[in-house]
Amino acid sequence: MQLPETESPSQNISTHPSLGPRVPRIAIVGAGFVGSTTAFALMMSGMAAEIVLIDRDSRRAEGHVNDLRDAEVFSHATRIFVGDFSDCCSADVTVVTAGVSQSGQKSRIEGLRDTGAILHGLVSDICLQNPPGILLIASNPVDVLTFAAWRWSGLPASRVIGSGTSLDTSRFRRRFAEHYGIASSNVHAYVIGEHGDSQIPVLSSARVAGLPLAELSQELRLPHEESSLARIASKTRTAGGDIIQAKGATYYGIAAALVRIIRAILRDERAILTVSSRVAESMQLGEVSLSLPSIVDRHGIARVLPVALNPSEQRALEASAEVVRGHIASLSQTIPI
Ligand code: NAD
Repeated sequence: MQLPETESPSQNISTHPSLGPRVPRIAIVGAGFVGSTTAFALMMSGMAAEIVLIDRDSRRAEGHVNDLRDAEVFSHATRIFVGDFSDCCSADVTVVTAGVSQSGQKSRIEGLRDTGAILHGLVSDICLQNPPGILLIASNPVDVLTFAAWRWSGLPASRVIGSGTSLDTSRFRRRFAEHYGIASSNVHAYVIGEHGDSQIPVLSSARVAGLPLAELSQELRLPHEESSLARIASKTRTAGGDIIQAKGATYYGIAAALVRIIRAILRDERAILTVSSRVAESMQLGEVSLSLPSIVDRHGIARVLPVALNPSEQRALEASAEVVRGHIASLSQTIPI
């Protein structure tokens, strides 16, 4: 089937008489740095048959759509168009990246009220159009907004997923890989908790080839220095801020993380990813969303797994939950959650 010749992608292609809907469809709400880069990464992956970009600035969204269409011949046939919330109706996943720009912000929390108000205004619209869909939240502060979006959406917690510490975990694994001179795909280590300053890089249960880090260092004849591990953890924590200071925003890493999560959903992978979701009562962390290793499949989060933590990591997880709970309470002073 051929796309209509159009330089006006705001024409609603999903209701074009000669074009039936294609699956899978991914809707992206917010066509800024993160949304447009996610659309590009998704297109390059070949996984989506349709990508809908939705933004209150429709001119910007149209510009991105026309630019992305120029990449189609070199990549994968993908129907990509500007839409509105009605186009979320058949989306397998709706990715929310709407928010305020990261440049000029000192922390992820600074835009809390503004981005909270934006998401409050759109989450129920998305879910009214697509009650069986999955919401994937990237807007920051992602844990607070994942919790709030779950409340506003009326969806089961398993279908409101935050990108959480998936990006931090990738930063952590890459730094380990560089430190030990091995492939990052072979590092089994997680960053859990808040996607923010209180995140916990779990060192005690990090493994490579089944080996704890001290044994790995011994095998590789490298010194096992606590200071090197602490530096890896600290560089992981500050990585986002360092990039923002240098270029004003981060988007390649988060786009790749979002596409990885979408892949786990579309392909029913049951992949273990550190994504954010409402934490079960049994974990005794209170009413909060944060990241723990989670099994992600076609229906969203199939299961959240416990991580083996030493006592100080356990205390840090409790403190991280308290930080996120505090931000949820602060947002709920202006917007009902
Ligand atoms: P950006 O300013 O480039 O883009 C935001 C877009 O949202 C803009 O195009 C704006 O028009 C749109 N928007 C605002 N309100 C809207 C509404 N009501 N409906 C539709 N669209 C709306 O910002 P960005 O750099 O793309 O960042 C977007 C969000 O992603 C921010 O909250 C940022 O902090 C977050 N982020 C998260 C991670 C992560 O790891 N979770 C990483 C990077 C950025």
